[in-house]
Amino acid sequence: MRYRSTRDSSIAVSAPQSIYQGLSPEGGLFVPESFPRWTAEEIGELCGLPYRSRAARVLGGYLPEYTQAELQQAVAGYAAFSHPDVAPLVRVGGDTVYALELWHGPTHAFKDMALQVLPALLSQAMRKCAANAKVMILVATSGDTGTAALNGFADQPDTGIAVFYPDGGVSAAQRLQMVTQTGGNVRVCAVRGNFDDAQSAVKRAFGSAEFARQLAGDGVSLSAANSINWGRLAPQIAYYFSAYADLLKARRIRPGDPVHFAVPTGNFGNILAAYYAHRMGLPIGKLICASNANNVLYDFLQTGSYDARRDFRRTSSPSMDILISSNLERLLYELADRDSAQVAEWMAQLQSDGRYALSPDTMARLKGQFFTAWADESQTASAIREAWSDHGYLMDPHTAVAWHAVNAFRAENVGDNAPIVVVSTASPYKFSADVLAALGVSVPDDEQACMRALERTTGLPLPQSLGELFRRPVLHPDICGCDEIENWVLTHRPV
Ligand SMILES: *Cc1c(COP(=O)(O)O)cnc(C)c1O
Repeated sequence: MRYRSTRDSSIAVSAPQSIYQGLSPEGGLFVPESFPRWTAEEIGELCGLPYRSRAARVLGGYLPEYTQAELQQAVAGYAAFSHPDVAPLVRVGGDTVYALELWHGPTHAFKDMALQVLPALLSQAMRKCAANAKVMILVATSGDTGTAALNGFADQPDTGIAVFYPDGGVSAAQRLQMVTQTGGNVRVCAVRGNFDDAQSAVKRAFGSAEFARQLAGDGVSLSAANSINWGRLAPQIAYYFSAYADLLKARRIRPGDPVHFAVPTGNFGNILAAYYAHRMGLPIGKLICASNANNVLYDFLQTGSYDARRDFRRTSSPSMDILISSNLERLLYELADRDSAQVAEWMAQLQSDGRYALSPDTMARLKGQFFTAWADESQTASAIREAWSDHGYLMDPHTAVAWHAVNAFRAENVGDNAPIVVVSTASPYKFSADVLAALGVSVPDDEQACMRALERTTGLPLPQSLGELFRRPVLHPDICGCDEIENWVLTHRPV
């Protein structure tokens, strides 16, 4: 299978190349040339398999250059998950609402679903591409991606990882997860500035020929682990198939019955994976795209006009505080019938004017597949409170945004009784203070006390690794300026 660039269809690469390069040179994203089609029988066969094998089957369709043994090695990353089902489907409300819990990995957010698999896929890709012997991953993070990438790449052979986070710009738990991360090949440094400053500095490092030359002298090439990499998207498709198989297995649905999925959305990676699953033949009803107060995607799905010219808001669901949803570009490519010139034009307009608009017929296609809603801060808190008091289900603020969207969907679609799966993206303990506040409990000053208070209030066990965070030694105390990133990497040599 070949992968083509969304902005120039004449560029085609293999799966390992797309994973190794991350981004196409002219700025486009790699997309599969076709979608492997699954029959109802093939979907049914997943019922008898454990999660790892389900994931290996889905990955196999997209990565024909990888051997079965290589795929097995990649999905072995799920051994780091604390739940035997890896991505369990939990019944929440009555017979029709379920939560697909994607946060039983080592850093307790859904990024682990991809970042425990990507390191193996990447090192295999390097071998297949006969690239430089070693690779160095650079990441700028606002929280969850950095922690998950550090954990996934720690002690991976011939790989180093350096993560930069904005000083004072991540939560206490997220910071501790990063600065206490062990592994001979991991480096972490705070950057003076906000997330955009850190992100721009890392992008400059990627663009610097001098920096690349210095690294190449030692046989090292640079790579990215952000969510535009195909190696992060592909593993995410698997859990939609898995959730559907679990519903089949429990006889909640029959083969072919539709299931709706509600996804809390930021960079559009998670929900795009659901769209791809649908294109592969998974009977998905509606994709419910849930936004927080940074509701640029909500407006886009309602009006067909994407307009990033608006104020950025800090919310209790920080991993969705995004105004430019990078992976939306891949959906646009499909909506435009794979017309890369059209996609390039929209992206150029976004760059120059901060906006672009779809034609009415493209818009109609979009409407057929997606439902959208957004939650403000008080609606998010109400959703947490309601799910806990009515169903005894505790959710984090990101998941609560999706819960709110499900209520909106139900209100507008009375009589539609298809099951709805709420994609649950983080452990509530990762956002203890906001969850406590939503439950109406007084919020202690420090993060550790918040976790303990949440445990006392709900009786749900605090994950051991989060409780232990506060006792682990700080291994990465450094802080640097935005213009010092390249030097810092060269002197600290993760690989
Ligand atoms: C990253 C993240 C999201 C948003 O996912 P996208 O793929 O960027 O849409 C939602 N919730 C949590 C907890 C996350 O870490």
